[in-house]
Amino acid sequence: MSEVKTHVRVRFAPSPTGYLHIGSARTALFNWLYAKNQGGKFILRIEDTDLERSKKEFLSEILDSLKWLGMKSDEEIQFQSSRKPLYDTYAKKLLDKDKAYYEETEKGKAVIFRNPKTKIAFDDIVKGKIEFDLNEFDDLVLIKSDGTPTYNFACVVDDMDMKMTHIIRGDDHISNTPKQLMLYNAFGARPPKFAHIPLILGEDRSRMSKRHGATAIREYRENGYLPEAVINFLALMGWSPKDNREKLSTEQIIKLFSLKSIKNTPAVFDIKKLNWLNSEYIKSCPPEKTTDYLTPFLIKKGVPAGNYDKKWLTSVIKLYSTRFSNIDEFIEKSEFLFKEKIDFDEQALKSYINEKTIPYLGKYTKKIEALESFGEKTLEEAARALSQELNINWADLIHPVRVAVTGKDSSPGIFEVLVLLGREKTLKRLKDIQEKS
Ligand code: GLU
Repeated sequence: MSEVKTHVRVRFAPSPTGYLHIGSARTALFNWLYAKNQGGKFILRIEDTDLERSKKEFLSEILDSLKWLGMKSDEEIQFQSSRKPLYDTYAKKLLDKDKAYYEETEKGKAVIFRNPKTKIAFDDIVKGKIEFDLNEFDDLVLIKSDGTPTYNFACVVDDMDMKMTHIIRGDDHISNTPKQLMLYNAFGARPPKFAHIPLILGEDRSRMSKRHGATAIREYRENGYLPEAVINFLALMGWSPKDNREKLSTEQIIKLFSLKSIKNTPAVFDIKKLNWLNSEYIKSCPPEKTTDYLTPFLIKKGVPAGNYDKKWLTSVIKLYSTRFSNIDEFIEKSEFLFKEKIDFDEQALKSYINEKTIPYLGKYTKKIEALESFGEKTLEEAARALSQELNINWADLIHPVRVAVTGKDSSPGIFEVLVLLGREKTLKRLKDIQEKS
């Protein structure tokens, strides 16, 4: 006997009343992963019936962020604001059966659903059996007096009309589910299956908010996080593969994902994990690609990356590729390469620049001036020769040089740094510090 396969259809239904939040992106992702895993369809529906709070800029930001993450709607995007006739038709069906009634208000006629006041239960894929007593709820507004549908009504009409098989959403919607189920019952329709995912908490176990870190996906994008790293990170908030691996490609996640393996405990937002994942993805990305990707974001953050030769910029990114996990960190560590005037770390100055080391810097300056070629090897040889002549430790020369040219007490290999900085700037910084001290 051949098995009839129900084709999975899921939707992500954001309201364009704010930027795409980390939690919503995770909801979108779980829907998308499930659709891909099942060979089903993932559909985007914009819940923009609240005309006052819905904004074009939020809509385009949500669409951009989803696109950046690689989640595409498999069918034409639906907008609730253009589906009003459908909601009216469905409201009429309930009015005709006397399951709903009109209520006159000053502003106009509202349509209200008669709550059957029974008990209602459903099997949530994540949470198990959940029962509600409808006596706890009032009659339900379907169409407000201004003619716009309520969320619960539009949502059910659309989910029926769009033939959704599974509703995967945040568990903050659990109390809406009995209201939606009574509508399915009233229409004599079979409800979809529900999977309510626990919310994301901050490290202090309170609901994730700006206090815990950036909440908009856009902010991660602008801070140099790669989409693969963000997808990987979002997937691990509430789900994990059986072997608890952490770094997984999107393809691997799709293959392993299932609704049953979503955890029924809140996920905790761990920025360290995201930073770790991002640095892993940066390390494995070819430096030219990372450079192209990061350049516009660097410019946005005030580093005039576009004014530099791309080969040079790529070498900088390559040199730092194992040392940063986002753009802010990259800028903090490498900014001395882009600036004319550098900031000095007070502690580094105090530790390494003093009466004893200043003359070393003077002598190294002279050695560099005498060099025919300014390269890693010649710079290192000059430094070796000088430390021998002066009979000093290597570190007693190298640390002061590093502080003089970078302002910091740590950097990648100092000679690579000097080459990237170039002869002119290197000499200027070595001289400046001698004058200054
Ligand atoms: N527009 C609702 C929200 O953004 C959708 C909830 C649902 O998935 O049913 O929370």
